[in-house]
Amino acid sequence: MNLPPRHLVNDASDHLEMLCDIIPDRHVGSPGNRAATEYVAQVLSDYGWFLERQTFSCIDWSQGPVKLTTDKTSWEAFASPYSLSCLETAPLKAAATLQELERMELRSCILLMHGELTRDQLMPKNFPFYNPSEHQRIIKVLDQKAPLAIITATEKNPGLAGAMYPFPVFEDGDFDIPSVYMTDRQGARLLKYAGENITLQIDSTRIPSTGENVIAIKGREETRRIVVCAHIDAKKDISGALDNATGIVTLLLLARLLRAYAGDPVIELIAFNGEDYYSAPGQIKYLEAYKKRLPAIQLVMNMDGVGFREGKTAFSFYECPENLTKDIGKMLTAHEGMIQGEPWMQSDHMIFAQQKVPAMAFTSEKFDEIWCNIAHTLHDTVDKVAPEKLLYLAERLYEIINYFQQNEWR
Ligand SMILES: [Zn+2]
Repeated sequence: MNLPPRHLVNDASDHLEMLCDIIPDRHVGSPGNRAATEYVAQVLSDYGWFLERQTFSCIDWSQGPVKLTTDKTSWEAFASPYSLSCLETAPLKAAATLQELERMELRSCILLMHGELTRDQLMPKNFPFYNPSEHQRIIKVLDQKAPLAIITATEKNPGLAGAMYPFPVFEDGDFDIPSVYMTDRQGARLLKYAGENITLQIDSTRIPSTGENVIAIKGREETRRIVVCAHIDAKKDISGALDNATGIVTLLLLARLLRAYAGDPVIELIAFNGEDYYSAPGQIKYLEAYKKRLPAIQLVMNMDGVGFREGKTAFSFYECPENLTKDIGKMLTAHEGMIQGEPWMQSDHMIFAQQKVPAMAFTSEKFDEIWCNIAHTLHDTVDKVAPEKLLYLAERLYEIINYFQQNEWR
């Protein structure tokens, strides 16, 4: 297989424009999300790939303004994504720790959560891949105590919530206590109203909807598979260029490079749907349907946050046999634009690594800049992307697949 000339950069720009600008919003359950999977399916099918499309149920969500008022003041607060609506006037109570929460009577009250209790975004009730017991404990106590509504006040926490400040502590369509979020500064001022009546109004609707994973297949040797994946969904109302239109564009470029692939090992390209959604519906659907073929997968390559205009492309290994790590590491670092990065225990490579399937993650060297300042915000736009880096990465993946055809790694 010879590498094609580098004229595909225009394709990269076209796909990017389609996913980020022409389709303005790819959050799971939205019309934009369905338009994006339709587009990707069309492109993959045009390149001669056999398609498997997996549909799942999900909810979309729409929101109106939030009104939060004490006697004379109104406060800035935002509805937690997927929150139910409410209109309540009730006494305010506040808690900063789980111990405090456990001692409180909260029926007929509005609860202000702050401090230690709101340091992290709480993992959704039914999120299967990572769900710390402290998070589950907090949710359980809240469900038992049943406050009328919850206000959460948060500091900046780039570790879990991307670059948002304030960030929603709850982002969970399975949690039914209405809630809003605000900054820790507002929260500190609101604390002074503990014991007094406050009014909270949230106008929002959960809308039943559907989404899909698009899986493209070539090759016939079912017992030797290589998977390349990226998530297609984004957070609500943002372009999601680096998170993760660039991953999908790289997948499409690779699909084009492999257009004439006639090798034996199965190449499986997956546009996952749900990495940025509270219950990871696409990922769960995939694992349910294809659990049996996991043992045949010799390597998964996941892309998330690739193509940042600054720095190189970073790669890392998970559960990989030593010879694979050595071979691919050597192959990649021979290229100026590639660098071995820090381990990254999130994103879709982990759902495979957790099942002991060898996996790699591809992201950008300036990972912190993306996940602290850009991801999940309005700053995540196409101008942050260098399209030629996407083609460069697609060519590296192509080389790995080429190499994979000729070598056994375990
Ligand atoms: Zn992502």
